[in-house]
Amino acid sequence: MRVLLVEDDPRLREQLARALRAAGYAVDEADNGRDALHLGLEEPVDVVVLDLGLPVLDGLSVLHRWREAARTMPVLILTARTSWHEKVEGIDSGADDYLTKPFHTEELLARLRALIRRAQGVASPVLEYGSVRLDTRSGQVTVAGQPVTLTGHEYRVLEYFMHRPGAMVSRTELTEHIYAQDFDRDSNTIEVFVGRLRKKLPAGLIQTVRGMGYRLGGA
Ligand code: CA
Repeated sequence: MRVLLVEDDPRLREQLARALRAAGYAVDEADNGRDALHLGLEEPVDVVVLDLGLPVLDGLSVLHRWREAARTMPVLILTARTSWHEKVEGIDSGADDYLTKPFHTEELLARLRALIRRAQGVASPVLEYGSVRLDTRSGQVTVAGQPVTLTGHEYRVLEYFMHRPGAMVSRTELTEHIYAQDFDRDSNTIEVFVGRLRKKLPAGLIQTVRGMGYRLGGA
């Protein structure tokens, strides 16, 4: 999953970016409203963490512009403790959830998981397909109860598939959702990740759709 992190406080941004990457997300960062607006309009991000007090363009205006442009990704806003009206305005502007500063990183991660689940129409934090079980809270993957060790990229690919069982996923789509913008994206490396994943998962789980991409099926 790809998260857009918008926060102008460099220390907080770095801290959150580190925690998000450790939790398995591809992270795009912005430290001002103009860059945030652009990234949210142009990049297929899956979820956004949006600070409201931002230089150049404030967070509420950014959110307005995204929603006007029919960008529907879930957005969690970060608000100042003293400013309850920001929450109201934020939710009225199309925010899906909010957190008041200061907050615990664990709470942010839990709320993002819930937003992603809701956006994908999944009720449980544990995704299951055949004998494969992926716990989005711990990042743990098991096959028939046995733990499987995946790299960050492999995990993101599998999580993306597990959110859409049976659906065709093109290489381009996969590339766009598992890498942050500044990553050197090469669709050939997707094939490498899928190849490695297949060796760790039940045979036939990730099927190739000739000339199109992949699909979680069989198993
Ligand atoms: Ca701020």
